[in-house]
Amino acid sequence: MATSSTPARRTVAVIGGGAVGVATASFLLRDGHDVVLIEQYGLGEGASFGNAGVFAPSSIVPMSMPGTLAKVPGYLLDPLGPLSIRWRYVPTLAPWLMRFVKAGTQDGVRAQARALTPLLHDSYGAWLPLVRNAGGEDLVRRDGFLAVYRTQADFEGDALGYQLRRDNNVAFEVMREDELWQFEPSVSHDYTIGVLFPQAGNTVNPKRLVRTVGEQFLRDGGRLVKAQARGFAREGARLKGVETDAGLIPADAAVVAAGAHSRNLCAALGDDIPLDTERGYHVLIADPDTMPRRPILDASAKFVSTPMETGLRMAGTVEFAGLEAPPNWTRADYLLTLGRRLFPGLAPAYPESRVSRWMGFRPSMPDSLPVIGRAGATPDVVYAFGHGHVGLASAARTGMTVADLIAGRPPAFDIAPFAPTRF
Ligand SMILES: Cc1cc2nc3c(=O)[nH]c(=O)nc-3n(C[C@H](O)[C@H](O)[C@H](O)COP(=O)(O)OP(=O)(O)OC[C@H]3O[C@@H](n4cnc5c(N)ncnc54)[C@H](O)[C@@H]3O)c2cc1C
Repeated sequence: MATSSTPARRTVAVIGGGAVGVATASFLLRDGHDVVLIEQYGLGEGASFGNAGVFAPSSIVPMSMPGTLAKVPGYLLDPLGPLSIRWRYVPTLAPWLMRFVKAGTQDGVRAQARALTPLLHDSYGAWLPLVRNAGGEDLVRRDGFLAVYRTQADFEGDALGYQLRRDNNVAFEVMREDELWQFEPSVSHDYTIGVLFPQAGNTVNPKRLVRTVGEQFLRDGGRLVKAQARGFAREGARLKGVETDAGLIPADAAVVAAGAHSRNLCAALGDDIPLDTERGYHVLIADPDTMPRRPILDASAKFVSTPMETGLRMAGTVEFAGLEAPPNWTRADYLLTLGRRLFPGLAPAYPESRVSRWMGFRPSMPDSLPVIGRAGATPDVVYAFGHGHVGLASAARTGMTVADLIAGRPPAFDIAPFAPTRF
């Protein structure tokens, strides 16, 4: 019999085997549910494959800030700039973009940063129970996260971001010139200011992290079905199962954690959620000539370089082109050019056999907040997607929160800002 600490056992289908789905499935299993993970490809093959691997409380700063719009023309004109748009996609993107601009007010960004804080403040610690249970301690590190700036003007341009961090108790230390160069010798002396976020951690392999936790979920009794979810079978407001290309998977609760592909699944339940994708790229150099000691955000050029177990990964850029257009690999090559500026110790060229490129779909909401909450048509379906730039970091805390909702426990923090109905 269920007690107040042991929720009633349900059969829960989690759609999506990325960081969010795997973490959520693992926490649901800990609650004693019968959990089936539905993934169309393999675990950790989506956006969770190729990200920068950073768990940083400092990432509470939203993407749409006051003044972001004014910077867009400059970003677009600079081939090495952090933003690109396929013009054919603009009509589709327009409503999302309007909401994005509307989100970037002083009051808006203060509320968004406040809302993101409980998801991110201990993003490293939130992953630990899953990592330890899976014996994956070698996958995570806690050496902090360093943002570097070329100029004082660049640094001052981020003043509101630092104010938001101060307001939400995110620790940071500013370093200048010699102090920075001694602290992180791999960085070019063209960078004169560094900001260390000491609470941050990272994984040395995001895909292996998701896989390792996912494989432990299976060893602990979870199930995995390789199938594409298409919709939901219901009797009135009660869920009967998830419809997939491999047939009906019976379940009395479900979680939509399909990342950037979640929108159609919500539409199947009558919810119109403004989810789009900010496509991002990485380039990875195996066995590079220099390696930073910790992840570094080039805050002037806006990309992150992370020491991975497989090499040095430079990840970033935002490309608006939807889910169908093929990758534009020059975006990844620009990251290599930018990486050479940041790390003068990198060789001028590497053989192609040592360079790999990747593109992935960030699941992005216009207000930089994920969707965590129940579907309109049935309380049995919980949404957990739209984590944009911070989905790896916030996956474990999201999983705990979804487990609370499925168990009928009050979540540990206010989830109203993440409501599916907020638009
Ligand atoms: C370049 C780049 C750098 C980044 N750096 C960081 C970082 O340093 N830190 C951080 O926290 N975040 C970072 N992110 C963001 C992070 O990668 C994403 O927010 C996160 O991976 C989203 O996880 P997810 O589980 O929601 O989605 P995904 O990892 O995309 O997983 C969704 C899964 O659902 C499956 N799926 C979709 N539809 C269906 C269906 N109908 N049926 C069955 N399965 C389905 C997909 O196959 C996929 O496996 C970065 C992103 C990019 C692109």
